[in-house]
Amino acid sequence: MVFESLAEKLQDTFAKLKGKGKLNEKDVKSALREVKMSLLEADVNYKVVKKFVNKVEERAIGQEVMDSLTPGQQVIKIVNEELTDLMGGERSELTSADSPPSIYMLVGLQGSGKTTSTGKLARQFKEKGKEPLLVAADVYRPAAIKQLQVLGERLDVEVFQMGDQNDPVDIVKAGLARAEKEKLDPVIIDTAGRLHIDEELMQELQDIQEAINPTETLLVVDAMTGQDAVNVADNFSEKLDISGMIMTKLDGDARGGAALSIREVTGKPIKFAGMGEKLDQMEPFHPDRMASRILGMGDVLSLIEKAEKSIDKEKAKDLERKLREDSFTFEDFLDQLDQVRNMGPISDLMGMIPGAGKAKQLKNMQLDDSELDRIEAIISSMTPEERRNPKVINGSRRRRIANGSGTSIQEVNRLLKQFKQTKKMMKQLSGKGGKKKSGFNLP
Ligand code: GDP
Repeated sequence: MVFESLAEKLQDTFAKLKGKGKLNEKDVKSALREVKMSLLEADVNYKVVKKFVNKVEERAIGQEVMDSLTPGQQVIKIVNEELTDLMGGERSELTSADSPPSIYMLVGLQGSGKTTSTGKLARQFKEKGKEPLLVAADVYRPAAIKQLQVLGERLDVEVFQMGDQNDPVDIVKAGLARAEKEKLDPVIIDTAGRLHIDEELMQELQDIQEAINPTETLLVVDAMTGQDAVNVADNFSEKLDISGMIMTKLDGDARGGAALSIREVTGKPIKFAGMGEKLDQMEPFHPDRMASRILGMGDVLSLIEKAEKSIDKEKAKDLERKLREDSFTFEDFLDQLDQVRNMGPISDLMGMIPGAGKAKQLKNMQLDDSELDRIEAIISSMTPEERRNPKVINGSRRRRIANGSGTSIQEVNRLLKQFKQTKKMMKQLSGKGGKKKSGFNLP
């Protein structure tokens, strides 16, 4: 999970601080020493860490914090604000051109996730009702053109290519002409990468920039390469006019050193975060929400946005009615599981729930996607009648379902029990019986 190990350490440090009623300078200093160590272990750039800790200390050792009723909370608040600031403060949106098409040029080293991000970006524009054009300007790696074409087909987005025998500048110019003629907007350009930065590549990218003057040049960097990503970004932004960054593979980066250092070192904002290989796994980068995730305060806003995108509103209404009328079945349950899955891996979702990372009960629960697989297998092994009316599921049926789904009778029993409890709880919440007894007092 993104920032997992850093988050754990910082949250431990702050739990100690919160437990104290009054704080003195020594308490704060020793907590900040721990923060410093955690950040260094997370591979955050040394200079960045030093500056950060000094800033927090300066603010935290003030009279206001020490004398407040909740000094521990105040320190955390300061750390949260400074972390947000470190990652750029406000969310930095993509700019669009005054007159279409907007042109986004993606640059970066080979393997950083450039082609994938081109597809992800196209998908986001498509969702907004735009008709993007992808331009394949990587002429050195023939597979790159094919890869983009495959993405284009999957997304139903046009891909412009001229094979690998032409000059990238000519390809890009021709692509732009095509977009203008067909009124395609935006134009997203996948450029060539190399394993290391070299002069020839930089020259080629500069030539493209000069020829078409892109609305934004986005540098794609791989979060998992840590400080190397920061150095690469620094080098690229010295030679090219970079407007922002797409940080990929944050899903696999438990430390987060690159994400926390890159803005401070290069002065360029992270605009998007890649959270997986799939085309829908790229999020707008919000520094404040990232900071909250790191400090275990959750990211409820992103969670709601995800839910809004993946949950079918009509189905949700239907579900509410069924729960109210007590006609909720295992068929509906299966449907629900599908919708939850649409939101992405469970571990990612947990990171967005305040305090969930630290909640022991949740940690011990097996809240991974394989649990969902098992539940799905069990329900799939039921007959339609059993799904609609679980009361008929007797001992021999339970055995059959367990065998059919490759699970155990205990697991089947557990699911049946959970289902019964959920229905009971819903009945109480919707005010049908049991309300007085349980003491719920809903409006
Ligand atoms: P390019 O050489 O820069 O065009 O890189 P690709 O787009 O081909 O990506 C290289 C590898 O990284 C591929 O296997 C991608 O599936 C993977 N990848 C790209 N972005 C992400 C991401 O955000 N998370 C994860 N886990 N993998 C990614």
